[in-house]
Amino acid sequence: MFENLQPAPADKILALIGLYRADPRPGKVDLGVGVYKDRDGKTPVMRAVREAEKRLLQSQDTKTYLGLAGDTGFNTAMARLVFGPAAELTRIRAAQAPGGSGALRLVAELLKRTRSDATIWLSDPTWPNHMPVMRAAGLQIREYPYFDAASGAVRFADMMSALATARSGDVMLLHGCCHNPTGANLDTAQWAEIADLVVERGLLPFVDIAYQGFGEGLDADAAGLRLLAAKVPEMVVASSCSKNFAVYRDRVGAAMILAKDSAQADVAMSQMLSAARAMYSMPPDHGAAAVRIVLEDATLRADWEAELEEMRMRMLRLRVQFAEALRRQSNSDRFDFVASHRGMFSRLGLSEAQVERLRAEHGVYMVGDSRINVAGLPEDGMDALAKAIVSVLD
Ligand code: PMP
Repeated sequence: MFENLQPAPADKILALIGLYRADPRPGKVDLGVGVYKDRDGKTPVMRAVREAEKRLLQSQDTKTYLGLAGDTGFNTAMARLVFGPAAELTRIRAAQAPGGSGALRLVAELLKRTRSDATIWLSDPTWPNHMPVMRAAGLQIREYPYFDAASGAVRFADMMSALATARSGDVMLLHGCCHNPTGANLDTAQWAEIADLVVERGLLPFVDIAYQGFGEGLDADAAGLRLLAAKVPEMVVASSCSKNFAVYRDRVGAAMILAKDSAQADVAMSQMLSAARAMYSMPPDHGAAAVRIVLEDATLRADWEAELEEMRMRMLRLRVQFAEALRRQSNSDRFDFVASHRGMFSRLGLSEAQVERLRAEHGVYMVGDSRINVAGLPEDGMDALAKAIVSVLD
């Protein structure tokens, strides 16, 4: 049976990890894989999460099934985290999902059920997993222009003209904040224009928010999403706790629906849960339970927010230092955009050949599209890194 199969193409980022590990050079720099790292290159368990896990271990006296939506306390807390502490939740439903990826797939399955010929518009470029997840659910895919590699800015006018050709009922996938892979984000005025376009053309916004708290802060990072929620009749959201709670391997996320009214929200939720039933039945409990404990306990929550803020500020500091080093080494403002980008990533605008030279000649590892993980920037080696980058430019 399996003799008919060809090997699936290797994941480029995972292949890069292998190359990095095998590289014996002491000064090698890993700007590849998308996990937050501290100054020592570690991705620690967050203090509040560790404490919540201890409490869980002490208090949990059964592991019987919870149900298709997972932990309902988690779902409410996540809806509040995303839509805002004062949000009216009557039209909103949330279902715990296995990570942000699971949430994306769950929402995509719901879209397929509600509209079998649904077309989803993705930013060009976008996180490489968006396309396979949407395809796997059977959605049609189109792309809208998003990023200008030369200036590092959003091509907003081009994006809007492409979306003006979308048909009523088309779905528009937006990164809530901290765009992956580019680091270039929409400002408030642009979110407002998008909200107008969505209403005018009858589109459905689908917000993927995987880095809330990594850009401008927990509330500021959800401001665009909240602005949309206040204006549009319907929207869908996939949120991830992988990064902002650092629970990557525990697979914690939530799929959310904002419907026209409470009755429609219930029907849509029942369809989404029936899709979950057919894929994995119920989400894993442990990580979501820990996140729920953190979000519901004032002290733990304050400590989580403080630690998250330290991580965010570290990335901002690194951005400024890196942009300054690039300015010194290149004698130009070409890379100044790195300081104004937000989140864990920036796309530098180098060619694949230049990225490969950086790896081969300097032991600097980044994804082939020149996306860097800002958290991997070496605090004590910024100028050496900037010099290496400048040396491979034309
Ligand atoms: N969306 C985006 C844009 C992402 O970058 C990621 C993680 N790399 C995810 C969703 C999902 O992450 P996870 O499934 O690990 O929660």
